[in-house]
Formats: sequence, structure tokens, C-alpha cells
Amino acid sequence: MIQLKSRREIDLMRESADLVGRTLGKVAEHVEPGVTLEELDAIAEDYIRTHGAEPAFKGYKVGENVFPGTLCTSVNEAVVHGIPDDYALQSGDLLSVDCGVELNGYFGDSAFTFAVGEIDEEARSLCQATYRALYLGIEQAIAGNRVGDIGHVIEDYCSSRRYGVVRDLVGHGIGKELHEKPQIPNFGKPGSGRKLKKGLTACIEPMVNQGTASIDVDPDGWTIRAADGKPSAHYEHMIAVGDGEAEILTTFEYIEDVVDPPYETTPSVTHNSTANG
Ligand code: MG
Ligand code: MG
Repeated sequence: MIQLKSRREIDLMRESADLVGRTLGKVAEHVEPGVTLEELDAIAEDYIRTHGAEPAFKGYKVGENVFPGTLCTSVNEAVVHGIPDDYALQSGDLLSVDCGVELNGYFGDSAFTFAVGEIDEEARSLCQATYRALYLGIEQAIAGNRVGDIGHVIEDYCSSRRYGVVRDLVGHGIGKELHEKPQIPNFGKPGSGRKLKKGLTACIEPMVNQGTASIDVDPDGWTIRAADGKPSAHYEHMIAVGDGEAEILTTFEYIEDVVDPPYETTPSVTHNSTANG
């Protein structure tokens, strides 16, 4: 069952989404060589709780396996779901940070891949392509299109650049639950899958590898890595499907205010974060 949201609910979700954006902006202030993943995690947890919300990932269970962190911190070939530990970031690392909150009964979820210090040109191109693919996917999130239209443009754009689009993990609906229906794969056939209706709120989140799309799971049961050890990037926005245009609920603006992102924004990319005043 897909839960379509009212205008009032979407406005509440915008508050959860905005807090995720601000938390990632706070994290961005501290992303530099020498800082540990645990330190970033503590900063995020404190910021979220101080703002009257709960970290959504901390204590998240898959079977008996409980996620211990507020953030998922995934470095280099780690794709997603990395556990924050005592690893100290080094210049040249790609750091993907995924953050979720629950505020006023609604979840927010967004992810951003940071360049730590100086990254090489290949890594920068990977971030650029992943970021661009995210926005191409968002452009398809309009009423009357289908789920497969989103995945198709993401996969088409990335695979034409010989990147590996991860298929084992997908985007998702979001609302009163962190993961709602439908699944939003980063691949698909145009015109296939469920029809998108106005009021569907979802996370679009391409996970793109420099090499193979194949992944392995660490013995910790969480950390997903590119099977060939090459770098991976991940950008995620929460959106609401609209007529003719998707509303982007999360924002990278708080991050971009603090650090130079590893991509160039294009004029067609607009952050829709001022619609709520
Ligand atoms: Mg996420
Ligand atoms: Mg997500």
C-alpha cells in the first residue's frame, strides 16, 4: 500500500528533511583529514537531539543486526551503510554520509558524498555523474510517470559513462516510516513499474561505482563495498511527486555553504527549499 501525503503532511516532512540538511551541514564543518568517523557521528547525534528529533538509523534493525550509528559513513569503496568507527579521514578519501531523522512523527533521509582534502579527477568525475544522475531522476518524479522512468534515466546516464550502478540497494518511499513503498531502483525500463501519483514522498538515491556494480557485505553485516575495491558515490534527496515538477524536500545548500562540493551545479538544477518560506 502506497501512502500518499497531504499538503500538510508534506510540509511537516519538509521540516524533517530540512533538519537532515542542517545536520549534514554541521557535519560538513568537520569533514577534514584527521577527523574520525566516530567524531562526525557524535556531532550529528548531538545536533539532531538538540533540535528535538531522534536519529533514525541508530538502533535500526535488520533481523538481529542493529545499526549502532547516527550516520552511515562509507569511505572510498564502501558504497553505503558504513559503521562510524575510529578511522581517521585522509586527504583523497571520498566520504559518503547518509543521515536520517525522525521529527514530529515523520522521517527525513538524505545522503551526500564529500571530498576529503584533495581528491583525484576520477573521483571528482564519479561524484559529478552521481549528482547529475540524482537530479535527472528527480526530473522524472512527476505525476503520471512510472517508477521505471526514474531508474532508467539514472542507469542510462551512468552506464553510458561506464560506471556501475548498484542494483542490490534501492531508493524508497518515506513518511511515517523510514522505508515505505514503493522501492525506487536506480535502473529500469521507461514506462514500467508503478505509476507515480501526486503526494508520493520518496527518496531517490543513486549509488554509483567507478568500476563494477557488484557489491560485497562486510562481516559486520552492514558495510556494503564495491566488489572490485574501486570508489563509490551516493547522493540522496527526499522528494514529493508533483504535477509537472517534483518538490525537493531535502537540500544540500547547508553543505554547499560550508564546503566546495565535488561537483558543479548546473543552471537547470534548482533547490526547491524556499517554497515553505
Ligand atoms: Mg539515506
Ligand atoms: Mg534512503
